[in-house]
Amino acid sequence: MLSRPPLSLHQRQGLRFALICALAFGAAIAYAADPPPTTTAKKPTADISATSASSAKEVGAQLREALGTSVAPQKKLTIVVSGKAAANRSTPTTVKSARAAAVVGHSQTTQMQSVHGGDVHWTYEGEKGPQAWGRLKPDFNVCAIGKRQSPINIDDGSTLMGPAEPLLFNYTPSNGTVLNNGHTIQVEVQGDNSLTVRGGRYRLVQFHFHAPSEEQFNGKRTAMVAHLVHRNDEGQLAVVALLLEPGAANPLIDKVWTYMPLEVNDRVRMPRELLNLNELLPIDQRYYQFMGSLTTPPCTEGVLWTVLRQPLQISPAQIKLFTQLYPNNARPVQALNGRPVREAQ
Ligand SMILES: [Zn+2]
Repeated sequence: MLSRPPLSLHQRQGLRFALICALAFGAAIAYAADPPPTTTAKKPTADISATSASSAKEVGAQLREALGTSVAPQKKLTIVVSGKAAANRSTPTTVKSARAAAVVGHSQTTQMQSVHGGDVHWTYEGEKGPQAWGRLKPDFNVCAIGKRQSPINIDDGSTLMGPAEPLLFNYTPSNGTVLNNGHTIQVEVQGDNSLTVRGGRYRLVQFHFHAPSEEQFNGKRTAMVAHLVHRNDEGQLAVVALLLEPGAANPLIDKVWTYMPLEVNDRVRMPRELLNLNELLPIDQRYYQFMGSLTTPPCTEGVLWTVLRQPLQISPAQIKLFTQLYPNNARPVQALNGRPVREAQ
């Protein structure tokens, strides 16, 4: 936990100015005042990165909180926003600067609790890192003793090769809210988006990112991975993992990064129907499939995992922007314990 010096008058004025600027930035950016519709999931929680009920907050309350009690920025982050990709036009790059709290330390503990749906702080490194998750809270026990945990290493030589049931993605232009939850950048999705797999229909709830990829292939990770979290009417989860490797910039990720909140627990609503997950799907949809768990506490099992074989490209600059916030938010691979991994041809 990092200490938290009181804000000087000068800092408060700076914060106030920054907030006014942020508000004036345009109707495109708004603090979402609505809790996500994903908060009623029972088992497992609707949320690989542990989204849960966050209390709705008025903008005014957020402003008061920011002016009165927010954590003093602990490091400066300069974010370079390319208007070209976000707005789909070829204007010169514009540069915006923003101060961001370091996302380590979780100084805003109370807020973190509401966002993460848990009352226990956990991390990816140190004494509350993955090796300790199972001991942090009784509800997290399965992180330590579960036999079908995620992520896993997929070894080419030991998969069950066979015919593929096609994955039926039905994604449409949707609304999104980008959340910095202290563990990842996550987009909560509102729209008509579904995946039909294994005879069931699952609705897209949210997607988020890890760096490096949590999944390994023959012992190797890719630079990043996107996890698309779907849930059916029974509350069961189906997660699609899209591996990301350095290459060309990805237009959908540019849109998400444009609205990326820099402060932990902040959320930014994207312009209406800006989000189209079809932009993220590879043409080659062959995949690996296995049963696993949430990769974050409480590590609940019973999650249907589908990992697409073809990695997508994402530019080094896009990777850098994420890893400046989250340089390592990947859980180590877990034992297979005899689980079959299907390789759909
Ligand atoms: Zn994930």
